[in-house]
Amino acid sequence: MNLKERFEQVQDQIARACAKAHRHPDSVTLVGVSKTQPPDVLVEAYRAGLRHFGENRMEECQHKVPAVQQSLGDVQDLHWHFIGHIQSRKAKEVVAMFPTVHSVDSMKLANKLNELAKGATHPPQLLIQVNISGEASKSGFEAYDWQHQPQRATQLQAELSQLFSHPNVHYVGLMTMAPFGATEEQLRRIFFNLADFRQQVEVWSGVALPHLSMGMTDDYPIAIEAGATMVRVGRAIFGERQP
Ligand SMILES: *Cc1c(COP(=O)(O)O)cnc(C)c1O
Repeated sequence: MNLKERFEQVQDQIARACAKAHRHPDSVTLVGVSKTQPPDVLVEAYRAGLRHFGENRMEECQHKVPAVQQSLGDVQDLHWHFIGHIQSRKAKEVVAMFPTVHSVDSMKLANKLNELAKGATHPPQLLIQVNISGEASKSGFEAYDWQHQPQRATQLQAELSQLFSHPNVHYVGLMTMAPFGATEEQLRRIFFNLADFRQQVEVWSGVALPHLSMGMTDDYPIAIEAGATMVRVGRAIFGERQP
């Protein structure tokens, strides 16, 4: 299969998962994770119909993002999403290049992004990364077993209320990464748990969080059943990555 066929297959799978969950296919944004792919492959994906691109390393984007935009004649409907961990010293470049950031994984980073966005004409759209599975290697706000951990819940409530007081950025949702090798049953539990947590955060804060960014190549149909509004799919569109 070529890129266009793989992209169309993913779109079909999304439509099928939406139908199963009685959701409109437009309620899910496909973010094609184009990390490690060269600019010409992103251009090919755009021409095939992909409009949202996810990247995770600023070093890689410095050349790549301008190259893609230039090849496409600065089209207006191309959307860049940053999905990787952000080091403090790279934060400024990330907000300058990426209107949407999925990986706000600490209070410190959130504060920094708010500071950097001061005076920006378009406030960055931010998603709060949540570690809902409890896997030690995952970053993000620790929300594992929040339903049964009152202290953790209280702390989360306090942290998130501080975050929502940021005037220069726009928090639009939550993001999570499922552990590698999880069973379908575990994935289902994790994704539904993030959806429940979103509801709880909305009740705590009164802030509407329309987006749930969850689901990758191996599990995006399950994430859609649980309410994902953004799926981050790399290999199923672009093929296996070179190590
Ligand atoms: C690489 C990556 C993805 C996509 O992974 P695939 O398995 O290729 O679909 C999604 N989210 C994040 C944060 C990633 O780093």
